[in-house]
Amino acid sequence: MTEIKDTYKTLRLILGDQLNIKHSWFKEANSNVLYVLMEVRTETDYVKHHIQKVIGFFSAMREFAENLKIDGHDVYYLKITDKYNEQSFEKNLSKLIEDYKIEQFEYLEPDEYRLDALLQSLSSKLKIGASMMSTEHFYTSRLEVKNFFEDKKESVMESFYRDMRKKHQILMISDKPEGGKWNFDQSNRKAYKGDPPIPTHKYFLNNVDEVLSDIKKSKIKTIGNFETKTFAYPINRSQALEQLKFFCAELLQYFGDYQDAMVSGEPYLFHSRLSFALNLKLIGPKDVVKTVENFYQKHKKKIHISQAEGFIRQIVGWREYMRGMYWWQMPELKQSNFLNNNSKLPSFYWDADTKMNCLQHAIQESLDNGYAHHIQRLMITGNYALLNHTSPDEVDEWYLGIYVDAVEWVQLPNTRGMSQFADGGKIATKPYVSSANYINKMSDYCKGCSYDHKEKYTETACPFNSLYWNFLDAKKSLLRDNPRMNMMYALLEKMKAEEKTKILEHASTFLD
Ligand code: FAD
Ligand code: SF4
Repeated sequence: MTEIKDTYKTLRLILGDQLNIKHSWFKEANSNVLYVLMEVRTETDYVKHHIQKVIGFFSAMREFAENLKIDGHDVYYLKITDKYNEQSFEKNLSKLIEDYKIEQFEYLEPDEYRLDALLQSLSSKLKIGASMMSTEHFYTSRLEVKNFFEDKKESVMESFYRDMRKKHQILMISDKPEGGKWNFDQSNRKAYKGDPPIPTHKYFLNNVDEVLSDIKKSKIKTIGNFETKTFAYPINRSQALEQLKFFCAELLQYFGDYQDAMVSGEPYLFHSRLSFALNLKLIGPKDVVKTVENFYQKHKKKIHISQAEGFIRQIVGWREYMRGMYWWQMPELKQSNFLNNNSKLPSFYWDADTKMNCLQHAIQESLDNGYAHHIQRLMITGNYALLNHTSPDEVDEWYLGIYVDAVEWVQLPNTRGMSQFADGGKIATKPYVSSANYINKMSDYCKGCSYDHKEKYTETACPFNSLYWNFLDAKKSLLRDNPRMNMMYALLEKMKAEEKTKILEHASTFLD
């Protein structure tokens, strides 16, 4: 640790997901400023996190602090095991401010509502100056999405996304979208049949022995596995840039096509694995989008616009939109439960002990890697949780804990809003539920399953089928008027009474 002087005037707090080395704070070293990073139990314990998530956060924070010191900044770093660590932001900050006779407290805009409230309240209690500034990470400000939609009837992502493309001149030829279309979503839905080969992904071999030992010493309760013993996702900016370069060279050309595909034993397919680096701000969305757009422009013979647009939509569209929806809907979003779901999350979500092959794969991969790609999260684990009428609180707890990239501002709108329809349709226009038909179309899971994806109520019938019709039946009073559900309700209403009874009986054995 650098020697800590007692002449600092300003204390600047850096949270664990604010590791943006390109931030203007760090342009030049200032001997009056003390930068503070801390590992605290209030952050490790608000939910049971995946072991790899805690390892990843602490490793990236420690690395960041070291890099700041190399650049000449003064840094105070509190490890989780440090004797003087009081294990909460308020206590540690109050003590440091007093001990070093700090005159000004500065922090970066937290992305999480809870931490925003905490730091605002702390600032108002301190008897010194306090100020907050932007993390300089996102394209949009917190309330830009709210302002964009406030006078509109619907708040669907697509209109916001088009506006972002125009405003930031991304994949545009003057005022027209490149390729003549805004959205190539229709060509982003191919199933994967074994070709093209999936490249070996870029795994970093970050040695995290010391971090792991500190986590064990502190007896932090975690979930998930850590068989590799090295942390495979980027923990600094240069690794994040390497990961991005690898994505452009090896994966981008197929990203769009197989974005929704699911394959046994291939947890990553053509996905970028950049979410951890992005969410800790090791790399910015503008870095990612500019690099991908430039790469596409230079390699148009190899990369079709549908691949580049499909990827850029995730960052400029979905990621910014979700953050905006979070700040617009909080704190109500965290309590929302439009479908009145109150069941417990099935116990196999915690150990993957299920005969349902799709769930077994998606959950086991989540436990092993702290990762599942979007369609596994939405159409396997999210779909089943919703068909099971699971309480959104239980669903949130699982998603917030299990993924290395899970931070509330992006997890909550994806889970409560998009996946569980708990916000009543502000984010998704209809609930994302499906029977086995969709899963069979988009994956190879059904081939290796004990259940039959075509059957609806026999002993070996796939539970997704009966649970799907049961869900529509049970939620009819809340969903029947939704025009996007019309076709499905028309089918349910046409179903023979005898068949419907058998299906609902079959579903009840799984719900019980
Ligand atoms: P890629 O498929 O390569 O996509 C590139 C990037 O686009 C991602 O890194 C991510 O930053 C962004 N992106 C893609 N989809 C979304 C989305 N729906 N919302 C916001 N950003 C998106 N993402 C998180 O970062 N943290 C979460 O906690 C999280 N929880 C989710 C929970 C549910 C129920 C669902 C359906 C999705 C969730 N997502 C979450 C979104 C998405 O699944 C992940 O961002 C993605 O799987 C990360 O893997 P990747 O980096 O390989 O993504
Ligand atoms: Fe999943 Fe049903 Fe297919 Fe089995 S048959 S993999 S449970 S969708």
